[in-house]
Amino acid sequence: MKVGKHFAAAILFLTVAISSNAQLKTENIVVVTLDGMRWQEVFSGADSAILKNKNYTRDSSGTSKDFWIDDAAERRKKLFPFFWSTIETEGQLYGNRWAGNKVNNANRYWFSYPGYNEIFTGYPDTAVNSNDKIWNKNTNVLEFINQQKKYTGKVAAFATWDCFPYILNTQRSGLYVNADVDTLKFSSPSLQLINDMQFLTTRPIGVRPDVLTYFAAREYMKTYQPKALYIAFDETDDFAHAGEYDQYLKSAHAEDAMIADLWHYIQSTPQYKNKTTLIITCDHGRGDKLKDNWRHHGAKIEDAGEIWIAAIGPDTKSLGELKTDNTLYQKQLAATFAKLLGFTFTADHPVAEPIESIYKN
Ligand SMILES: [Zn+2]
Repeated sequence: MKVGKHFAAAILFLTVAISSNAQLKTENIVVVTLDGMRWQEVFSGADSAILKNKNYTRDSSGTSKDFWIDDAAERRKKLFPFFWSTIETEGQLYGNRWAGNKVNNANRYWFSYPGYNEIFTGYPDTAVNSNDKIWNKNTNVLEFINQQKKYTGKVAAFATWDCFPYILNTQRSGLYVNADVDTLKFSSPSLQLINDMQFLTTRPIGVRPDVLTYFAAREYMKTYQPKALYIAFDETDDFAHAGEYDQYLKSAHAEDAMIADLWHYIQSTPQYKNKTTLIITCDHGRGDKLKDNWRHHGAKIEDAGEIWIAAIGPDTKSLGELKTDNTLYQKQLAATFAKLLGFTFTADHPVAEPIESIYKN
């Protein structure tokens, strides 16, 4: 047969193409963000200076009872028990600058919209410099995934902050993004219940509580089994701005518990078990060198561009807390999400390289 040679070449090419992806076990990806959650608390737990300051912690002794212990390793575990048990044992935690391991914003604005744009587009666009409800011009990796075979209609995002439909540009991307009190129009009884709850709840931070965002995402997951899911929490940032350190810690602690619950669901569901990677990160850091700046972030706060990343999944080596002298950037996450699913994220803008250590064996 004349076509034999070409056919053999094609087979060889196909084999190479498949084998470079076949090494990865990840078929689903779940991303969770904790808005403005400082790396300092992730790696060291509650901060004694802020905890003792009555301006920030009204019930200092009660909050200390919950979150303080002298030993820093035990203290961080009190705040983030899931991070410092399951993720530490089976996954990876980047960003402990005291150990020399750094994760940075590549954008220079150090607030939410530019941070989320950077996470999902892989491009720290200087034109993305406001938190206003502007339709994002940059293509994001979730819409890229949604365009891939087997993933179309299997991508969804649940957010507490009502800016996310703009950041992920639902007008163009066609992604399902449910934010704040966007009606949950589903026939599932649990989603209908959550829908009623989100309209009747108090709104301490002016949008629906994170726990309702979480339950909406979880019940959606159970009913529709998305292959790429994003959950965006918000409370930590709002309580920090308000100067309420006790509430900031309590929200962080509750979010750790929700993430534990999420991972338990993933690992006990055939569709997800041992083929799902979970990545947790934040949009920006906050101040610390000037202690009062823990409330604030933005380009004027010198340390607000310092962030962290946690990852766990079937392709993520159990390295625990990274202590190597290395710097990662937020812009590398978009390509990492795609790579875990076997895709190379490309767009009309430059896309930063993926983080190899998250998926390379
Ligand atoms: Zn903020």
